Formats: sequence, structure tokens, C-alpha cells
Amino acid sequence: MAKHHLRCEFCGREASSTLKVLQGGNSSICKECALVISNIFSGNSSTIGPVDSDPAPELKKVPTPSEIKATLDGYCIGQEDAKRTLSVAVHNHYKRILCERKGSKYADKLSETLSNVELEKTNVLLIGPTGSGKTLLARTLARVLNVPFAISDATTVTEAGYVGEDVENIILRLVQNADYNIERAQIGIVYIDEIDKIARKTENVSITRDVSGEGVQQALLKILEGTICNVPPQGGRKHPHQELLQVDTRNILFICGGAFVGLDKIIQRRVGTRSMGFTNKSAENSHEEKQSLSLFKQVEPEDLVTFGFIPEFVGRLPMVTLLEELTVEQMVEVMTTTRNALTLQYEKLFAMDGFSLRFTPESLKTLAAQALEKGTGVRALRGLMERLMMNTMYELSSLPEGATVMITSDVVRGKEKPVLIKKKKGKTGTEE
Ligand code: ADP
Repeated sequence: MAKHHLRCEFCGREASSTLKVLQGGNSSICKECALVISNIFSGNSSTIGPVDSDPAPELKKVPTPSEIKATLDGYCIGQEDAKRTLSVAVHNHYKRILCERKGSKYADKLSETLSNVELEKTNVLLIGPTGSGKTLLARTLARVLNVPFAISDATTVTEAGYVGEDVENIILRLVQNADYNIERAQIGIVYIDEIDKIARKTENVSITRDVSGEGVQQALLKILEGTICNVPPQGGRKHPHQELLQVDTRNILFICGGAFVGLDKIIQRRVGTRSMGFTNKSAENSHEEKQSLSLFKQVEPEDLVTFGFIPEFVGRLPMVTLLEELTVEQMVEVMTTTRNALTLQYEKLFAMDGFSLRFTPESLKTLAAQALEKGTGVRALRGLMERLMMNTMYELSSLPEGATVMITSDVVRGKEKPVLIKKKKGKTGTEE
């Protein structure tokens, strides 16, 4: 009994069934603070988290959905629907957390009846092709709210007992990114990528155990809906007699993302739409794309179940939103107007040696079109740009002082070398 009156002298919390406090001489410390201190000594952290009694002081006022969206606009081009949906979901999620805090402006406004109403968590499912900005949106949201953020890949998780990661490692990553401050981790955001890859494959349902499908969904389901998760502090597999961190996942916002290839066909079967048949090949392609997008927009929970998710899992992702493949114009915007735009990064590298770099508008469109063909969205841009600039970067030191290098669309197509404009002496090549 006496043990329960022990208090940690670092964070002030009392020992309980979920919080062990050790006593040594005249002082005492809880398990969480001891871990944080151990991390400080091993150079992984510089702060003692749990001392801060308010895990997220900056969350006193949740930004409005339009404020959240305005910040997302600064990082993510296009994807209007997804940005609006996420802004509202995240706003409500953090309002729900604040509502539980005594003295918050949200709690004060509620009548007794309403304050007893429990707001349910709204995890979000992002459906969109690779490289369309799913991870970017989740990461930016965490930055707006200044809460811990972690990314995990659903394909690395397996059912306990099989080769692969335990589901707890997802939470561990969040705890690590919160500098082992459990309370901060408990209000963080987790992005789980490739969620479509853990759909049950119908053909192997009864033959073997579905290690990577339904079992993983069951394991993830628990943390998605909210549970006390026992996390091994050093990662890896859990083993008996190991000290475990207890993390409550009730207020962690989960954003899951995936490309869901083939889901449009499932929706098509349900709604019964037929392809119209076009003669012109390119018109047919763009028609197909539009049709596929309009099908995705009609997604219902039952389609996700047909895709291979258990109904309980689908139920834990009540908000579904779509991301579209970016257009050439949007790709150009990504390259030129976002904060760390690729063209600006190269201009910086050139400027550091006193050179200038210019891209003609046509060259950027050509580059964007090439990236689109690769089918990996914005992701392809970086590789293409690296390859394009490689030779010029290699020869940079031998260029005449102060020269300007001009990239035209023929340069992008590999038909000519970058055009060199010598400083104040006119150009040696032609502009487009
Ligand atoms: P995914 O949809 O596969 O999660 P990511 O969010 O990881 O794609 O995007 C890959 C890269 O492309 C990142 O560097 C990201 O910054 C960039 N990117 C993707 N979509 C956009 C977008 N809509 N606006 C700006 N940058 C984007």
C-alpha cells in the first residue's frame, strides 16, 4: 500500500498500477523519467519530457479549419478536397482532446448534458496514387499543430509471433519522436502508409493463416480505436520480464494512406457503370482516368470490405478522402513555388559558386510531363532533375565566371546541352 503514496520527484506523479516509481535513499523516480534521463545520458535527447505537466501547451487554442488549410496550401499543391477534409478532421480531433481538459474554453461552454456526450475519434483514410502528397499532408499537419509525428509502413507490421515488426513499434516511433515524453506522444499524429497492402487476399483465406492481412488488421484495429499499448522502450519484439512503456492511444490521430489499386473496379461493379467506348486513344485514356476518379469519389465502406478489410477496421477510419494525380501545371507549381522547390534548390547550389540558373517555362512543363509518364507522381521529379543537372553540375567549376546556365525543353529531352549565357558578353546559344 505504501508504494502507492510514492511520488516521482522529477514529474511529480504518484505511483499507480500503470506508473512504477522507484525509491533510492531519500529520493524517488518514475520509470518514464528514468527512461528520459537514460536517453539524455546516451545523447538521444536533451529534455526531460514528463516534467512538463501540460503535454502540449501550444494546443490551448486549436487553429480553425481554414487556418489549418491555409498552412497546408503553403506546402501542398492541389488536393483541395483532401486538405479541407483533413483540416476539419484534425480541428475536431484536437477540440475533442481540449474538451476533456478542465478549464479549457471548449469545456466551459458546454451544458451538463453536452459535456457528458463522448466525442468519438475520427481517424482518416487517404486514398490516392503514389507521390500525390499523402505523407506530405500528414507531416505538415503535425507541424501546424506542433505535436509529435511518426510514419510507419503497414507492410512491415505482422501479427505477433511472426517475422516482422510488432504493431507496438508504430507507437514506439511516436514516443521516440516525442523525446520519450509519453503524454506528448499520446496526442500525436501517426501516418500509416501502404495500408491497402494489408487487405486480405481472398484466395488464401482458408488455406493458410493470413499473416500479413487480417491478423495485422486486427492488431492495428486495437491501437486505432484506442487502447493502452505496452511498448518495448528499445523496440524489437516484446519478451517476458521486459519493462514496458504504457501508452494510451485514445487521443492519437491515425491517418492511413494507400493507392488502393483496383478499388475503382469494385465500386464500378457496385454502381454498375459501364465504360462508354471511345475511338480516340488519348481521349480514351483521359476519359478512363476521369471515370476512375469519379468512381473513387463514390467509395462506400462496403467497397473497402470487398477490397479485403474487416468491417471493424473500416469502421475505425470513418473519414475517407481522395487525392488526385497532379496535372502538369500543378507539377510545375511544385517545382517552382513550394518552400523547398527543386528549382530553387539548384539555383541555390549555382549561386553559391556565383553562377545563375534559369529554366524556361517550357522546360519545366516537359520535365513534369516526363515525371507523369513514370507514374510515381511528384516523387519522379527529383530523380529526373538530378539526372538532368548531373553533367552541368560536374562541369560547373570550368564555366566562365558569373555565367548563366539556361535549361530549355530541348535540354530536358536530351537534344541539346544546357545553353550558356556568358556574363555581359551576350549568349553563346539560343533561347527557346
Ligand atoms: P505519397 O502520396 O506517396 O505519400 P509523398 O507525400 O511522400 O507522396 O510525396 C512524395 C514527394 O513529392 C514529397 O517530397 C512531397 O513533398 C512531394 N509532393 C507530393 N505531392 C505533392 C503536392 N501535392 N504538393 C507539393 N509537393 C508534393
